[in-house]
Amino acid sequence: MDPFRGSFTQQEALPEAAVAAAIDVIRGGRLHRYNVAEGEQSSVSRLERAFADYLGARYCLACASGGYAMSLALRAAGVGPGDRVLTNAFTLAPVPGAIAGVAARPVLVDITEDLVIDLEDLRRKIASTGARVLLLSNMRGHLCNMDALVALLDDAGIVLIEDCAHTMGAGWNGRPSGSFGLAGCFSTQTYKHLNSGEGGLLTSDNAEFMARAIMLSGSYMHYERHGAAPPREAFDAIRLETPNMSGRMDNLRAAILLPQLAALDENTRRWNARYDLLATRLSAIPGVVLPNRPQAEAYVGSSIQFRLPWVDEASAREFIAANKVLGVELKWFGDADPTGFTSNHHSWTYIEPQDLKQTDRVLAGLFDMRIPLTFTLDDCEHIAGIIAHTLAHISLDGAA
Ligand SMILES: *Cc1c(COP(=O)(O)O)cnc(C)c1O
Repeated sequence: MDPFRGSFTQQEALPEAAVAAAIDVIRGGRLHRYNVAEGEQSSVSRLERAFADYLGARYCLACASGGYAMSLALRAAGVGPGDRVLTNAFTLAPVPGAIAGVAARPVLVDITEDLVIDLEDLRRKIASTGARVLLLSNMRGHLCNMDALVALLDDAGIVLIEDCAHTMGAGWNGRPSGSFGLAGCFSTQTYKHLNSGEGGLLTSDNAEFMARAIMLSGSYMHYERHGAAPPREAFDAIRLETPNMSGRMDNLRAAILLPQLAALDENTRRWNARYDLLATRLSAIPGVVLPNRPQAEAYVGSSIQFRLPWVDEASAREFIAANKVLGVELKWFGDADPTGFTSNHHSWTYIEPQDLKQTDRVLAGLFDMRIPLTFTLDDCEHIAGIIAHTLAHISLDGAA
């Protein structure tokens, strides 16, 4: 078997328009978002306007990171010390981290075999904990039945904040991910769908919430220089009582994001061509289970997940190692010891330990692979071939 020689962490170069825009900002020297010449709209303001329009949201705030956007959203929604916040038991570490950032306590909700929040467990935990907020993590880009979720939350009076780090550009029944609740939190960190190294975007239709978020982000009294902010009146009541927790975006990052946003839908098509090919090949391998993706879900296939429900720990390690030798980088979410970006709830020892047998069972056999756009369709064929090959060897004991 020929090894694969591509890099799973190599993103594409930014578009030439981004390079030109970056040079303009650098030459101008006005990198701070509130440092504008007479009559000028900063790149950050223009990005906020463009992203609000893209999402169909009334308001948008650009900030330092996706994790920061989530913490800001929780704080602006009134979550404080000791409050309980519901969230998916399968997510990335910045999510419980954002909850800890406001000194609140995560209540972890089980996931299903399709890697989305289990609505039955959610219903139970709303009833048993009295939590008032759900920080929904659309982990690895999988959307639950959003219509059913919204109905359940409306019924129970629960506020929804969406973590859309992997669902920027995705949607459910024609509605964009991030537009279903009080707020949407997005990331422009290198491994998401727009790349500015680090960065975050927070969206909402709620004027009071967004006014608080803008003050919190470190706007001083410059909030009228924003691109998609609520009117001045929304700030009158809160502008003095809201602390400044600096986490602004700068013009350099915004300048390189604007041309990328224009290319997002085209890149989604390119990601999905790669994802769909891999999904077809992998699901044809005996013993491999791909999460079901409902018709209503419009996804962005920037990574792929599959399960080997039969796998034990030794075989999982053997499988990862065999792929690594052949150049294929897989992550295993069942590992008790977090490596790279993976982690599971057992490793967040700063939160109360929680019993999540269903999630643990799913994660024990869950594998994950990034799909950078630098991979060609031929690369994807090659990778699928390697996975099939390595699996044929280890599954001899387990799969039957
Ligand atoms: C990356 C990620 C975040 C956080 O984004 P940062 O910009 O890196 O802070 C949050 N949630 C999920 C699911 C992520 O993958």
